[in-house]
Amino acid sequence: MKRAYLLKSILLILFSTTHLLAEPVRLVMVGPPGAGKGTQATQLAEHFKIPHISTGAMLRDHISRSTELGLKAKAFVDSGELVPDHIIVGMLEETLRANGDGFILDGFPRTLAQAKILDQMVERLGMPITGVVHIAVPDEVVVERLTGRGRKDDTEAVIRRRLEIFGEETTPILSHYRDQSMLLSVDGVGSIQEVQSRIRTALASHRHGATAVGKGS
Ligand code: AMP
Repeated sequence: MKRAYLLKSILLILFSTTHLLAEPVRLVMVGPPGAGKGTQATQLAEHFKIPHISTGAMLRDHISRSTELGLKAKAFVDSGELVPDHIIVGMLEETLRANGDGFILDGFPRTLAQAKILDQMVERLGMPITGVVHIAVPDEVVVERLTGRGRKDDTEAVIRRRLEIFGEETTPILSHYRDQSMLLSVDGVGSIQEVQSRIRTALASHRHGATAVGKGS
C-alpha cells in the first residue's frame, strides 16, 4: 500500500516536470504566399501549445487600427511590397521577448538580411530557433489557391508580385538555413492534414538528430 503510494507520487512528479525538461519549440515557417504557412502554423501552434506569430497578421492588425506603424506599412502591404525592416523589427523583437516558452514564426524572415537580423535577435534573447519549416509549392498551385482567398492584397497582379519577391528575396534564406542544418523542406501539395503530418514527421526526425529531412530544396 505504502509502496504503491510512493510509486504514484514519483510518477506524478515525473509527469508534472517533463515539460520543464523539454526544450522550447521555436519554429520558423517559410514558403511562397499561398503555400499554407498560416494554416499549418496554426495547427502546429495548437499541437505544441505555443503562439502563432504572423508578421503579416500583426501588420494587418496595425493597419486596421490605423496605428502609427500601420499607417507607415499600409501602402507596402496593399501593393504586395515588403515593409521596410526598420518598421517591422521592433514590433517583432517585442513579441518574441514576450514568448520565451516557444513560438511558431510565420512571415519573417523574408530576406537574407532579415534572416541575419533574426539570427542576432534570438542570440541576444537567448532563444535559439529549433527548426525552419519550408513548405514547397509550385507557382501555378499558389496562384490558383490565392485568387480564391478574397483578401485585399490577393488580386492576381499583387499575387504575381509577391511570388516574384519570394523567388528573388526569400529563396536565398533557404540555403542560409540549410547550411546550418536547420531546414526541413516538405512537399506542400496535398490536403491540409497530409501536409501537417509531413511536417510533424520531419520535425520528429529532426529532433532525433537527423540532419537531412524531406526533399532538401
Ligand atoms: P503575409 O500575411 O505573410 O502574406 O504578409 C502580408 C504582407 O505583409 C506582405 O505582402 C508584406 O507586405 C508584409 N509583410 C509581412 N511580413 C513581412 C516581412 N517579414 N517583411 C516585410 N514585409 C512583410
